[in-house]
Amino acid sequence: MAKQRVLSGMQPSGLLHLGNLMGALDNWRKLQDQYDCHYFIADWHALTTNYADTSNIRTHSREMVIDWIAAGLDPEKSVLFQQSLVPEHAVLHVLLSMSTPLPWLERVPTYKEKMDQIQDREMNTYGFLGYPVLQAADILIYKANFVPVGIDQLPHLELTREIGRRFNQFYGNVFPEPQPLMTEFPKLPGTDGRKMSKSYGNCLYLSDSPDAITKKVMAMVTDPARQRRQDPGNPDICPLFALNKIFAPKAWCEHVNVECRRAGIGCVDDKKELLKHLLAFLAPLQERRKTLVNDPKRITEIIQEGSRKARTIAAQTLAEANEAMKL
Ligand code: SF4
Repeated sequence: MAKQRVLSGMQPSGLLHLGNLMGALDNWRKLQDQYDCHYFIADWHALTTNYADTSNIRTHSREMVIDWIAAGLDPEKSVLFQQSLVPEHAVLHVLLSMSTPLPWLERVPTYKEKMDQIQDREMNTYGFLGYPVLQAADILIYKANFVPVGIDQLPHLELTREIGRRFNQFYGNVFPEPQPLMTEFPKLPGTDGRKMSKSYGNCLYLSDSPDAITKKVMAMVTDPARQRRQDPGNPDICPLFALNKIFAPKAWCEHVNVECRRAGIGCVDDKKELLKHLLAFLAPLQERRKTLVNDPKRITEIIQEGSRKARTIAAQTLAEANEAMKL
């Protein structure tokens, strides 16, 4: 029996960090054994917020694919492709935009939120308002059965389902409804204790050298109330302890959980122990990364081959949509 299809994408907006790895990427890696996975570089989506300066988009796209493969995505198992190399997404976007009511787009929760957040450039653009329609086209054109989502992205997927349903009502049953593949991502704290995010400049990047990671971890904030070595600390509010729970063995976490509270262990020792496990965990990924960086031709081939495969499916669905619309 054919495997069910999973579709997901990522915007090439910069280097990937540990939070991306433990969240989306690791989940993508696990899914590829069970599903027919299609993962794409959402370069057109990156334009919706960063349309004015596109100077880094190519480099970021390639770096992202390097990170994907280094993290265990296998181009033999999954189709890795670039959205802008499959122009059928744009054509379906036009077709779907004809029947999508404007208020559906204006009520998307992240639309107003982002509009208020981004103050340094004009966001009142057609592309930004319409990006959920492009997202619907991305998903529907592969007739994806599942889309991995966190709880906050559920409204987006629901909108895709509504857009597909409306098309089907007018023209006939072309698009199946994609289902959410709910995933709980651990939220990783960054070096300043806030959520790890590029915009905060607090990330441990997958491309960071072991030295760079060591420097960042050694400077990482811990329990802010623990000023001196002899002060007892509280692991429950310590960002470093949150990393310990993911990367250090259980026995070490239990030890810290007791000793920190009675000042039996210092933060420097705890950081050194975390580093031992974190660097060992990242070593194979960084080894693979090094090999891939030195083989740019292979990266180009992987993206082109994946996009070719994706295009075959996309063209077939677009032909069905055109036929249904009697174009
Ligand atoms: S000993 Fe570890 S858990 Fe306790 S405050 Fe320091 S870094 Fe955090």
